[in-house]
Amino acid sequence: MILTAAPLYDAARHVLKDENLIKNIEEIAKDTALLHGVLMRTKETPNSPEVVSYAPFTLFPTPVPTALFHQALAVQTHFNRLVDRVSQNPAFLEETLASTIKVDNFTARLFNIYKQVQEEHRPQSIVLGLNRSDYMLDHSPDGGTSLKQIEINTIAASFGGLASRTPDVHRHILKVANLPEESNNVLDNNPAAGLARGLAKAWELYGSERAVVMFLVEDVQRNIYDHRFVENELWKRNIPVIRRQFEDVCRSGSLDESRRLFVDGHEIAIVYFRNGYMPQNYTSEESWEARLMMERSLAVKCPDISTHLAGTKKVQQELAQRGVLERFFPDEPETVAQIRATFAGLYTLDMGEEGDKTVAMALANPDQYVLKPQREGGGNNIYGTEICEVLENLKSSTERTAYILMDKIQPVPVQNYLLRPGAPLKLNSCLSELGVFGAYVRKGKDMVFNECVGHLLRTKSSEHADGGVAAGVAVLDNPLLV
Ligand code: ADP
Ligand code: MG
Repeated sequence: MILTAAPLYDAARHVLKDENLIKNIEEIAKDTALLHGVLMRTKETPNSPEVVSYAPFTLFPTPVPTALFHQALAVQTHFNRLVDRVSQNPAFLEETLASTIKVDNFTARLFNIYKQVQEEHRPQSIVLGLNRSDYMLDHSPDGGTSLKQIEINTIAASFGGLASRTPDVHRHILKVANLPEESNNVLDNNPAAGLARGLAKAWELYGSERAVVMFLVEDVQRNIYDHRFVENELWKRNIPVIRRQFEDVCRSGSLDESRRLFVDGHEIAIVYFRNGYMPQNYTSEESWEARLMMERSLAVKCPDISTHLAGTKKVQQELAQRGVLERFFPDEPETVAQIRATFAGLYTLDMGEEGDKTVAMALANPDQYVLKPQREGGGNNIYGTEICEVLENLKSSTERTAYILMDKIQPVPVQNYLLRPGAPLKLNSCLSELGVFGAYVRKGKDMVFNECVGHLLRTKSSEHADGGVAAGVAVLDNPLLV
């Protein structure tokens, strides 16, 4: 068993092995999750509120070093500004994505929409960004631990809602497990309120009391309760919310002469995309037309198409190149240093000498890297010997430029139980990923709102290389600072 020597885990060591106690806590934990609204709809009835279950979560919170946790929170407002500045730099986006869009059809289609709206006068100068920057704690052979960014999600970053409710669940479990001191140390967290503050700010600036916030959602809505926490924060402020799908926008969406967006008779102040980040979200040509119509409209888009593109893995890789961050923060060496400290090694696969070097490096030591296509949503990355298979096939073809290569982060596994509906409880060796939520609103040139609004810890069994909570691999967790 590999555990830190932190007080919780000294104390919890015997708890983890006490089968009777664990059995007893298991039921209490699940009931407590239900009581606190840590919910998900079931696989069998994803669109029905009649039968729901708890969202998967860990039995115990996971130790996270205090300094690294605070480092992640502290850099968030800088990441907000970075994403925003990248989104505002057409030359950078165009140059960076040039090779990718030649071979990646999905990114190319997004880029086409971007080019189309670039050429038009943009009616809306309000930008709302709600993102989540994800990290793992890399354990180096010399014993040091450092915070390394996995990626930044600029569209549909999820679990801000449910993460607002999990602290009370873990507090209760720890009390029942006779760990009262640890219970007191579970951090408060309320990203739902923070994300809603960003939405509310943008809604106020839009300036019409009748206009609504539209959550653009998928047809399968297992994770609806995560959204509902944010929605209800808006309703508390008397900001009306509707939920619609691409097909609703196709069917009833229109722009008036001032390019105000109307859907089912509602004027839309904000389109909050909780969908639209994967190729399969666009089920027809009409979905693409609907995306374009929303982009062309006066509605505030969260994110707008340029901010969506700023979150691609190719952009992430380019930002890690020498001298690039400096271009975005020319007078802020401290900011650059803070951001750069979180970057893992990222390598281009563009055609040419540098890309060839990347291929050779990956083939020589595949276990040290992750090969990533321009996809979101988990389960798309390539690891280990499969990297060799893919690169051997693609190494001389421009197809390789659809990917980037990244250093593989090596966190220390921690033992925990994962609670998942229908799965038997068993002690797992687990890896965690810390997410930090950022919210910002810009009006014209002025950043009028820029905050770090909370965190998310997700934990998965170390036998899985990839995959998030929605993909059925990771579960919700909380950091316990040590
Ligand atoms: P997605 O957009 O699909 O979420 P990510 O870049 O977040 O793509 O990767 C998905 C998962 O793969 C992450 O949640 C993490 O578990 C794992 N992963 C990604 N990059 C790395 C890395 N560099 N080192 C180790 N694991 C990684
Ligand atoms: Mg991810």
